[in-house]
Amino acid sequence: MLNGDRFRRRKVLRAGVVALLALAYAGAGLYLRLVLHTDQVYTHLAYVPIVLAGMWWGRKGSVVAGLLGLVVLVHDLLGLGAADLASDLARVTLFIVVGLCVGWLSERVRRGERALRISEAKHRLLTEKSLAGICVYRNERVLFANERLGAMLGCAPADLVGRSIWDFIHEPDQPKVRDLLARREAEGLTDLHYECRFLRRDGRVIWTDLASALAEYEGAPAVLVHLYDITEMRATEEQRRELSELARRQEEQLVHSTRLAELGEMAAGVAHELNQPLTGIRNFARNALYMLQTGAADSSRDAPDVQDNLRLITEQVDRAARIISQMRELTRRSERQFALIDINAVLTESVEFLTPQMRLAGVDVRLDLAPDLPEVMGDRIRLEQVFLNLLTNARQAMEESRERRLTVRTWLDRSGGQAVAIEVADTGNGFPPEVAERLFTPFFSTKKPGHGTGLGLSISLTIVKDHRGTIQAVGAPGAGARFTVRLPLPAEPHPADEWD
Ligand code: ADP
Repeated sequence: MLNGDRFRRRKVLRAGVVALLALAYAGAGLYLRLVLHTDQVYTHLAYVPIVLAGMWWGRKGSVVAGLLGLVVLVHDLLGLGAADLASDLARVTLFIVVGLCVGWLSERVRRGERALRISEAKHRLLTEKSLAGICVYRNERVLFANERLGAMLGCAPADLVGRSIWDFIHEPDQPKVRDLLARREAEGLTDLHYECRFLRRDGRVIWTDLASALAEYEGAPAVLVHLYDITEMRATEEQRRELSELARRQEEQLVHSTRLAELGEMAAGVAHELNQPLTGIRNFARNALYMLQTGAADSSRDAPDVQDNLRLITEQVDRAARIISQMRELTRRSERQFALIDINAVLTESVEFLTPQMRLAGVDVRLDLAPDLPEVMGDRIRLEQVFLNLLTNARQAMEESRERRLTVRTWLDRSGGQAVAIEVADTGNGFPPEVAERLFTPFFSTKKPGHGTGLGLSISLTIVKDHRGTIQAVGAPGAGARFTVRLPLPAEPHPADEWD
């Protein structure tokens, strides 16, 4: 409002000054011509209001030149003019030309001034309101610092100007920054981006994200630096890292205790499983010993009994050995060898390995393997163990079935992350829901005593989990069973990274 009033007053004042000068010119003209009969000096008086009008109103100001020219011509028409009409016309033309030139020049100057004002306002907006601390330095001395940088370093921007940049960079970070600056010089880089710590005036250390670029400042080369205060962000990140480390340690502990619990359970299972063959061995050995002691074995009729007992002992020892070896498979975790493998090839080999048994059991084996299946990262031997187990289970489940068909299928499964899927489906006796729940439990078996250890599927599950895969079983009594293994593609983080 105040500005508006002042502006209006200035306009009126200017108009008044020009009008007064123009009147003075006209009045002086009359006096000089009528009284002194000359217009030599007087003409030049016209240029004062003409120039002022041009300066203040631009080309519009040439109207004043026109008006004064009109006065000259009126004088001429009234016969008051001292010069002839031609020279007065030339004079009027000059008035207008001068008015236009001064107006044009003043408009240009005013446009330049406005552009400068706008540019200064922009500069102020960008530097003062910027969220980044901004600094310009040359020869390691600060030439300019904005308000934000002052606030970041706990002082006024003016206090920073003239100081060395090394006064603010936290000492432990100085070698790193010196290296980077030297590299910029050596490799001719223009921009640098790094994180480094700064020292505030109050002694606190802040973390900054810093971008610096070579620039020109006041006509000479300099370095322009933008800094963001990331202290809080770093602290949150640090906290998050600590929390995730804590979570990881807790998870490790959990895994460890779970494994201990599993081992405890397993030990109980093993003791139970081994008890049977050991009892058998003891009984058969006692029998044989008794026969030999009593001489019963000497008679040709009883000799085969001792042999039978010894054979039964051997069988029980084999069984115990099998249980122990499977247990070792279940617990051995350190010898895994991961490599890129072709699942179709591993499956084909497993099927070929079991072909004689399948043929003997009258099982029709069908392979439906997807061509161009991507390789997976896996332990070939262990995966073979999984497939052999699934195939053997399927064969055993079909022993009493009329139709004995075993289908092995592979495909690339794109549902929920890319994985290679392997399906082993049979037309065997299937399983009821209560069995489905316990399939993967160690030592769970529905097979006749001595035929199954109940460890096959739990070992398979451990192996598949080690591959970050899944294993799924679907089945119903009398309707066969379908086991699907999914192994993720190598794009996923390598399982070996997580081994302990
Ligand atoms: P085992 O074969 O020694 O019994 P597994 O862990 O391999 O041990 O299998 C556990 C149980 O899962 C089997 O006893 C059986 O009841 C069930 N099972 C596994 N595969 C099949 C299948 N293809 N069809 C029906 N039941 C199955």
